[in-house]
Amino acid sequence: KANRLFHPDDTIINVKGRKVGEGTISIMAGPCSVESEEQVVAIAKSVKESGATFLRGGAFKPRSSPYAFQGLGYEGLELLKIARKETGLPIVSELMSLEHLPAFEDVDIIQVGARNMQNFDLLRELGKIDKPILLKRGMSSTMQEFLMSAEYIMKEGNDKVILCERGIRTFETATRNTLDISCVPVLKQKSHLPIIIDPSHATGLSWTVEALTKAAIAVGADGVMIEVHNNPEEALCDGEQSITPEQFHKIMITVKKYAEFE
Ligand code: PEP
Ligand code: MN
Repeated sequence: KANRLFHPDDTIINVKGRKVGEGTISIMAGPCSVESEEQVVAIAKSVKESGATFLRGGAFKPRSSPYAFQGLGYEGLELLKIARKETGLPIVSELMSLEHLPAFEDVDIIQVGARNMQNFDLLRELGKIDKPILLKRGMSSTMQEFLMSAEYIMKEGNDKVILCERGIRTFETATRNTLDISCVPVLKQKSHLPIIIDPSHATGLSWTVEALTKAAIAVGADGVMIEVHNNPEEALCDGEQSITPEQFHKIMITVKKYAEFE
């Protein structure tokens, strides 16, 4: 179902009137984790002002250490909804467990994180609902495995899948992961699904985000997902890769020069 051979036209996913994959660049920006109402509303307002088209924010966080901040959970989702109400930006948040699915009913795009890309039970259930799914590439997954995970969702009837390349594990240690930019043309040749790039998780380094956002546009990605924090140094998660609202504003000026976006 994800194969372009049987579906030659590009898939366009309509999320509250915003069309992902229509040839414009979708900009999903926001904090790694929702930390407080004040934080998420302030970031949402500022990224909206700069031109973001979606608000991202983690409520349930897949942290490597069980002792690290695990997210605000249900409360985080409620705070995202407040930020959506204040800005009109549709919200994107990660679902880690099916037991939380009912609470995501009012989330506009459900994210499946890299660590859950092959959680087949999760994928199957998400295939049974009518909601866009942002599927992130597993850090050790091939493009074929990535597409097969999309297939798990689509097989059950949900064809609203957005792919997201977020960097893969290689021998390189200078960056957190290695951004596989070739993913965009290769997956676009094989599949009709929209694909976006997450430069923040790809390198883990905030100062690379602008250059890689330009690269994402140049290579034909349908959007980017960027972590923005009002105080990266104090962020409870992924501060090193988060850019400030001011830096985001500057990147958006560049984006507007090179790409059409809503
Ligand atoms: C995230 O988007 O916050 C995240 C945890 O991403 P990934 O699953 O790509 O590591
Ligand atoms: Mn993060």
